[in-house]
Amino acid sequence: MKLEFLAPQTLQDAVTMAKARGDAARFIAGGTDLVIQARKSGTWPEAVINLQQIPDLGEIKGSGQNFSLGSLVTHRQIEREGRFAGALEALRESACVIGGHQVRNVATVGGNLCNASPAADMVPILLCLNAEVALAGSEGRRVVPLASFIEGPRKTKRAHDEVMTEIAFSAPAQKFASAFLKGGRRRAMEISIVAMAGVVSVSRDGKLTDVRLAMGAAGPKAIRLTEVEKFLEGKALSKDVLEETGRLAAAAASPIDDVRASASFRRHLAGVYARRVVELSWNRISEVGNDRSAA
Ligand SMILES: Cc1cc2nc3c(=O)[nH]c(=O)nc-3n(C[C@H](O)[C@H](O)[C@H](O)COP(=O)(O)OP(=O)(O)OC[C@H]3O[C@@H](n4cnc5c(N)ncnc54)[C@H](O)[C@@H]3O)c2cc1C
Repeated sequence: MKLEFLAPQTLQDAVTMAKARGDAARFIAGGTDLVIQARKSGTWPEAVINLQQIPDLGEIKGSGQNFSLGSLVTHRQIEREGRFAGALEALRESACVIGGHQVRNVATVGGNLCNASPAADMVPILLCLNAEVALAGSEGRRVVPLASFIEGPRKTKRAHDEVMTEIAFSAPAQKFASAFLKGGRRRAMEISIVAMAGVVSVSRDGKLTDVRLAMGAAGPKAIRLTEVEKFLEGKALSKDVLEETGRLAAAAASPIDDVRASASFRRHLAGVYARRVVELSWNRISEVGNDRSAA
C-alpha cells in the first residue's frame, strides 16, 4: 500500500489535511511511538501529516511562574532547559529518563501526551503542575486540563483533526521544590513500571503545604494522589507521616501484571516512591531559590 506523506507549512493546512482524510490520516511528530506501533501491528495509516515544519511549535516560553511548552518541544530540550533547573527539576528528571539519546533528540512532549500510554513519563509531573493542553482543529481552538485530556490507555479527548499546539502550566506561587522517580528493570531505555512525581511547598512554620503527587504506570492512566495530598497538608515530615504516605499511595494504585512487573510489585513500588519523592522534594526546598512569597 502507498503511504502519503504530507508536510504542511502552517497549522491551518495541517488541520485541513487531517479533516479531509479523516481517520485514514495520522499526525507525526518524532515518530517514536507512531512508527514503532505501525511496524509492530503491521497496520500503517494511509497518510501521515508531519508537524515538524509548522512554525513556533518547538519553543519553550515563559519565565518565573508561567510557562508553555510547544507540542514539538523534544525531551532533549526539556532535559537541557536552564529555566527548569532548581524548583522545576522534576521536569528535567522526567525528560532525561525517556529512551536513550537518539529517542530524546526527536521524541516530543506533545507525542508523549497524545499517545496516552499509562507509562508516559512526562505526564505525572505535568499533572502536578496542573498543565492544560491547547488543541487547534477545524472547530477552532480549545484548552483542556491534562487531567481530563487523557481518558485511558491510548485514549484522549483529541479529535482526529486536532493538533496539540502547546502545554501550559503555572508553578506554585510560594516556595516549592519538585522531584521525579522512575522504576524499571534497568536504568536506561526502559519503560516505567512505576513513575512518581511530586511538587511540595513548605509553610513558614515548617509544615508541608500545597503537596501535589502524581503516579504513572500503576493504573490505566497517570493520576494525582489526592488522598495522599490531603493527608500531607499541614503535616511536618516524620517517619510516621512518610509511612502513611506510602501506605495511601500503594492503596491508590490499580496496577496490572504484565511482562515488566507483577501488580503486587508495582503496588509496593508505588508506596516506596511516594515516600521517597516527598522526602526528596522536602530536602530540596532549602536548595531552591524561588521564594516569591517573601517578596
Ligand atoms: C526505544 C524507545 C524508548 C522509549 N522510552 C520511553 C520512555 O522511557 N518513557 C516514555 O514516556 N516514552 C518512551 N518512549 C515512547 C516515545 O518516545 C514517547 O512517548 C515520545 O514522547 C513520543 O513522541 P513522538 O514525537 O515521537 O510522537 P509520535 O510517534 O510522532 O506520535 C505519537 C502519537 O501522538 C500523535 N501526535 C504527536 N504529536 C501530536 C500533536 N502535536 N498533535 C496531535 N497529535 C500528535 C501522533 O499522531 C501519534 O498518534 C520510547 C520510545 C522508543 C522508540
